[in-house]
Amino acid sequence: MQQFDVDFHIHGRYSGGTSQDMILPVIAKQAELKGLHLVGTGDATNPDWLRHIKENLKEETEGVYTQTQSKTQFMVTSEVEDNRRVHHILLFPSISAAESLHEELQKHSTDIDKDGRPHLRLSGEQIVDYAKEVDALVGPAHAFTPWTAIYKEYNTLKECYGDNVREIKFLELGLSADTYMADRIPELQDLTFMSNSDTHSPWPHRLGREFNRVKMKELSFREIKQALEHQNERGVILNAGLNPREGKYHLTACSRCFLRFRFRDAVSLKMRCPECGGIIKKGVYDRIEELAVWETPKHPWHRPEYMHIIPLAEVISLATGITTLTSNKIKERWDNLVRKFGTEINVLVDSEIEEVKKADPAAGKIIEKFRNGDMKYVAGGGGQYGRPTLKNEGDDFYGMGQRSLSDF
Ligand SMILES: [Zn+2]
Ligand SMILES: [Zn+2]
Repeated sequence: MQQFDVDFHIHGRYSGGTSQDMILPVIAKQAELKGLHLVGTGDATNPDWLRHIKENLKEETEGVYTQTQSKTQFMVTSEVEDNRRVHHILLFPSISAAESLHEELQKHSTDIDKDGRPHLRLSGEQIVDYAKEVDALVGPAHAFTPWTAIYKEYNTLKECYGDNVREIKFLELGLSADTYMADRIPELQDLTFMSNSDTHSPWPHRLGREFNRVKMKELSFREIKQALEHQNERGVILNAGLNPREGKYHLTACSRCFLRFRFRDAVSLKMRCPECGGIIKKGVYDRIEELAVWETPKHPWHRPEYMHIIPLAEVISLATGITTLTSNKIKERWDNLVRKFGTEINVLVDSEIEEVKKADPAAGKIIEKFRNGDMKYVAGGGGQYGRPTLKNEGDDFYGMGQRSLSDF
């Protein structure tokens, strides 16, 4: 058996709001520096992106493709939106499977040829029906977020997928949730949790900011499928990603001014922000409180550790106080560490901590802190990312300090 670090969910340059640098040669190069072995192509139902895939990748083993100028391998993936604005991840056994599915889905979409993440006039259950015909796998994307996820719309997987719920083997946690939160929900016990970046830019503080370490015999679609079904000793053996407090939708907050609310206060305000009139969005934290049956998480036998990591550029930013992650000063120290330890993931997760501290004492101290679970965070919400902090600061909720509910 071998171990591979995989990021299944990214978006190419044809999806809305993505970097023009989101092209396969750049992604492949950056994935190599990051330490990812396999990356999902994303957007594989989009004809322009499919053409780009065919121009840049060639098949290595069954369902896995290489980009010639790097060691990075790719598998064919995409994300689609259903008729209730719920997002689903698709994993394809081949490029031609994605092409056949595009043919079928075209009849149910007006934007599939324009957008990387198409809107489909199909239910979740129907999408699985079509996916099954080409042997593609389906699971919910960023399952708990308030705008476009399965649990903003439904209380159970079955309400979305109907009888096809038995085909669902994985669920993407999204940046605002982790295993400790999601394992309080009984219906998720058999599913493999995915931690993916959903990145719109190729730089290593985004690409692979969440990833899955998968144990399997070799890189192939068949092996990945078995791993996601935790069959034959294959499986995801580590989820690594942001602390959920760093996610954009962790706490209930105003989607316009990002003011944070205790959920019961938000309800009594009818989900309208008294400061700016914006819509208050229910945070993943509060949504999981509603769905949870167990007070504390129960982890099934196949559930791996979830490690909270911080992208290396952010670590250096914290260590130096330089806030522009793409600045040359950060880049220099990033290069130095990655050169020494081979990849960013080695620096963050696998290398001897004393060695990292020797190479860069200030960054090493922060890495030691999050590896030990001692890092503090200011939570995100309403669409605004949270952040790690070295200061003594906490979350401000509406109603704390001078402003209080009774003022309105
Ligand atoms: Zn999505
Ligand atoms: Zn507001």
